[in-house]
Amino acid sequence: MSKRDPYEVLGVGRSASPEEIKKAYRKLAIKYHPDKNPGDKAAEEKFKEAAVAYEILSDADKKAKYDRFGHAGPGMGGGFQGGGMSMDDIFSHFGDIFGDAFGGGAFGGFGGRSGGRRTIKGSNLRVRLKLDLQEIAQGVEKKIKVNKLVRAKGSEYGTCSTCGGSGQVARVQNTFLGQMQTVTTCPACGGIGQMVVKRGAGSDENGLVREEAIVPIQIPAGVEEGMQLNISGMGNEAPAGGIPGDLLVVIEEETHPQLKRDGIHLHYDAYLNLVDAALGGSVEVPLVKGKAKVKIEPSTQSGRTMRLKGKGLPDVHGRGTGDLFVHLVVWTPQGLSKEEQATLERLRDSPSFRPDPSGKDKGFFEKVKDMFGG
Ligand SMILES: [Zn+2]
Repeated sequence: MSKRDPYEVLGVGRSASPEEIKKAYRKLAIKYHPDKNPGDKAAEEKFKEAAVAYEILSDADKKAKYDRFGHAGPGMGGGFQGGGMSMDDIFSHFGDIFGDAFGGGAFGGFGGRSGGRRTIKGSNLRVRLKLDLQEIAQGVEKKIKVNKLVRAKGSEYGTCSTCGGSGQVARVQNTFLGQMQTVTTCPACGGIGQMVVKRGAGSDENGLVREEAIVPIQIPAGVEEGMQLNISGMGNEAPAGGIPGDLLVVIEEETHPQLKRDGIHLHYDAYLNLVDAALGGSVEVPLVKGKAKVKIEPSTQSGRTMRLKGKGLPDVHGRGTGDLFVHLVVWTPQGLSKEEQATLERLRDSPSFRPDPSGKDKGFFEKVKDMFGG
C-alpha cells in the first residue's frame, strides 16, 4: 500500500473541512469502485488508497497525528501500510459515507460483501461412472446413487450466540499505545454466523446425517475415459448458512471388444478371405450401433485402409463427428486339406501370384502417411 500523502490522494488542502474530505472521498470511491471497474487492478489500488487516506483524515485523532508526524507517527504503522484494510473493511465503512444512497444498491450486487460473514460450502462427492461406447456415442441420462450428507430431520440451527451472527468477534488488547481493538473470525462458528442448536437423531456435530440419494445426470455425447463432470450443488449439504458441495462424476470407459478408440475416431482391423481379396467381395464391419457391409474391390492388398465417414464418435464440444478407419488384413489360410494344397500348388508359379510391390500399390506405411497428410 502506498505511503502517499492522504491530502494529495483525496485532492484536498490541509485546511479542508471534514465535509470537504468526505465529499472528495465519496467522489473517488464512486470513480474507482470495483463494481464499476471489474478486473481493473489499478482502479482497485486507487480505491484502496483513497479508503486509507479517508481513514486517516476522517479521524480527528489520526489526522492530528499525521499532521504532526506524517506516516511515521505513532499508530500510523500497523493499520495503514501493508494492506491493513481489506475490501470488506472498506465496504463496511460505506454506510457512514454514502448513507441510504448505498444501502439502496447504487451499483447492485453489494449485499454479499457486507459484514465479515463467511459462506461455508459442503464437501464435494466423487463417483465413478462406467459407460459403454454406445452410451458415449449418443449421450445418456444416468441415475446415480450417492451416499451424501444432508441436514438431519430434527436438526435446528440458529444465530451464533458468541458473535450474534456477524461471524466476527472484537477483542480489546492493552498495548503500549493504549487499548487496541482487533476483529477476528468467531471461534465458535468459524465465521458462519450460525450454529447447531439441536442435533437431529444420529447426526454429527454439524447436525448432518448420511443418506442415500438418487441423482439423475445428463451425460453429453463424446465423453472420454478420465473426464470429470461437475454437477453443481449435488454434493454434501452444509449446515445452516451454507451451500451444498458439488457432485464430481469421473467417466470410466468400457473397452469395446472390436473397436479401438482414438479421440473422436475409431479403428477396426478387418480380416479378409484370400479369395475375397483377389476376386472382390465384401466384409462385415461392426459399428458403435449395428454393423455395416463394406465392399471389397478385386485385387485388394493387405494393409489397405478404408475410411467410413461420420461413423466415429461425436466431439464432446459439438465440433463434428469422427470417422471409422477399417484396416484390411488379408488372412493367409491355415490348416489346408490335401486337395486345397494341391489347388494352390498349381498356382505357385503363376506370374500374377508373384509379389510386385514396386507397381502401383504402395506399401502399408506409405498409405497411412498419405491418409494423415504426413
Ligand atoms: Zn459465531
